[in-house]
Amino acid sequence: MNMKLDPWGSVNIDDYSKLFDEFGILPFEDICSELPDPHRYMRRKIIFGHRSYDLITDAMKNKDPFSVMSGFMPTGGGHLGHKMVMEEIIWHQKMGADAFVGIADREAYSVRGISWEKCRQIGIEDYIVSLIALGFEPNGHIYFQSESDNVKELTFELGSKTNFSELSAIYGFSGETSVSHMTSTLSQSADILQPQLSEYGGPKPTVIPVGADQDPHMRLTRGIAHKMNMFRIEGREDKNKDKYFSVRSKAAPEGALADVAERLPWDTKLFEGHVDVFGADDYSKLLNTVREVEIEYGGYAFVPPASTYHRFMSGLQGGKMSSSVPESIISLKDDPKAAAKKVKRAKTGGRMTLEEQKKLGGDPNNCSAYELLMFHLVEDDKELEEIYDECVCGKRMCGTCKALAAELMTEFLTEHQEKRELAKDRLDDYGL
Ligand code: SF4
Repeated sequence: MNMKLDPWGSVNIDDYSKLFDEFGILPFEDICSELPDPHRYMRRKIIFGHRSYDLITDAMKNKDPFSVMSGFMPTGGGHLGHKMVMEEIIWHQKMGADAFVGIADREAYSVRGISWEKCRQIGIEDYIVSLIALGFEPNGHIYFQSESDNVKELTFELGSKTNFSELSAIYGFSGETSVSHMTSTLSQSADILQPQLSEYGGPKPTVIPVGADQDPHMRLTRGIAHKMNMFRIEGREDKNKDKYFSVRSKAAPEGALADVAERLPWDTKLFEGHVDVFGADDYSKLLNTVREVEIEYGGYAFVPPASTYHRFMSGLQGGKMSSSVPESIISLKDDPKAAAKKVKRAKTGGRMTLEEQKKLGGDPNNCSAYELLMFHLVEDDKELEEIYDECVCGKRMCGTCKALAAELMTEFLTEHQEKRELAKDRLDDYGL
């Protein structure tokens, strides 16, 4: 049966490997070794997949500009799942990315019916304040979709390249779906492409860290980015099997293709609607020259966005984390003592009796307490490995893990909430 990913539904993706086969997402572990100091989510395969992340590792290596962008729908209650995205954005910002965070209030308004006022309040209180407390630097950009002229204008432009059938095929929209809901998908595409507008330095690789359920947005946006570009570059082969490139455009303004041909340092041949390029030994130069001309002639030029995909944490009681079941999640605003109690009641992979646990070992792969340690609370890989090994060989009892997780969670939340108070006084630095 085909998998369907639904960013607004409740999906439980239990076999991530299917995503590689069905949607063409690539395994992150193949590219992780190219990063000098990967984030713990990367080292621990919590980030399991990517699209085009090689563009980002290349940009990091060559010290070329690149961006990171992600967003939050202000529906209430920033929790540990949101913290994952925040950390991924902040990590890329530290690695040199120009960082963008959008509060998807247009989506919350159109899909969930949340008022604009409430969207703003939740956006700041539950997401932005925690983002700043976790280390987001003021040289990044935080904005509300409804207040960004860039996003609104780009949404309209992107709409001219998209139709109902495409949106339906990706999201399963029906005749009952409101036009605002449909438009909100394009607002998200505009969010994703915004870092490449000329006022932010023009086209550049951009990575979007998301949970796997958000892949439909990535597929839509990557398709639109291709369609928005004035030129298409194709690798071609003649009958003698000699390879060359062809820069093609059906609708480029007069003179634009001739300009491309003139500026390239290789042999070129100009035809109606395309220019062929022979002997090009520097693809980046070819790409950049073509983009330069695109922009000069008033067109858009977007690098199709890259993405990373992380696994979801399970709920503290097993099953799915859900904001409507407070016992299943740790909110970033939870009272630290109450949170510690939740941790102590978490479902573990322990056996029925201590004797059995000693004899058979526990199952850390099905254990919410271990997940908390792995995702959030233990930074040292060796220490985590020891906990794992001790568990599976029956040397470790669940009470020890829960006590450790509860103590570390209390420390984290106490410190985070102190930093949140400081962040509230720094909103001005972020233009809010
Ligand atoms: Fe989980 Fe620790 Fe129990 Fe193992 S010993 S199942 S890691 S709580």
